[in-house]
Amino acid sequence: MSVPVPAPHPRILIAEDESGIADTVQYVLRSDGFTPVWCATAQEALAAFAQQRPALAILDVGLPDLNGFELFKRLQALPGGADVPMIFLTARSDEIDRVVGLELGADDYIAKPFSPRELVARVRTVLRRSVRAAAAAPVAPPAPAAAKPPQPFLIDGERRQIRYYGRALELSRYEYGLLCLFVQRPGRVYTRDELLEMVWDDPGDSFDRTVDAHIKTLRAKLKAVAPEVEPIRTLRGTGYALNEDLPTAA
Ligand code: CA
Repeated sequence: MSVPVPAPHPRILIAEDESGIADTVQYVLRSDGFTPVWCATAQEALAAFAQQRPALAILDVGLPDLNGFELFKRLQALPGGADVPMIFLTARSDEIDRVVGLELGADDYIAKPFSPRELVARVRTVLRRSVRAAAAAPVAPPAPAAAKPPQPFLIDGERRQIRYYGRALELSRYEYGLLCLFVQRPGRVYTRDELLEMVWDDPGDSFDRTVDAHIKTLRAKLKAVAPEVEPIRTLRGTGYALNEDLPTAA
């Protein structure tokens, strides 16, 4: 299997209407070996993205023509758009923006005002993670003992895909990471802190609600496949675990 090699000067798309912020971001990215592409509106960003797919996109939530969340959805719908990691820039006071952004499947968020160094570090982390994810070896679920029925989950690490009762799930990176952990050790209880540590590369700035938000969207996707089955258990005040006794057929 070939490991994707990042381009020498990865293109980073920046959708940000404040030129002062955009200038700073472009400056730090350029001096760190990236090729920034600045767009002041969502429309410009859509056009630039369609013309040449960037390695990563940084989206301001407050854009003049479309909000960053809507832009995110439209970018994701473009060819190859779902493979491009995206980071939201949000106002510090808007915790709700962060939760919405993560629920949509963004890879990270950065609160304004931010330090340019922090931004570059996050860009590097997210890019590293997406390259690593693309190169990840297939992860097999634990081999079932002879007497055990087959699991409803099947992980294909190479495609970063999980099948659930035969149906391929459309998961964001964090949802995928969470479900991989659960499926590999059914019954093991993970606290929110553990999940942040194990699934998020930069857990320091995240918070319990981040985990809860992703569990919620993950559950909704599982429920859409098998409405009667509740594969993820909540242990009040503790955390989450995969139910060990799942029916073999939905
Ligand atoms: Ca703005």
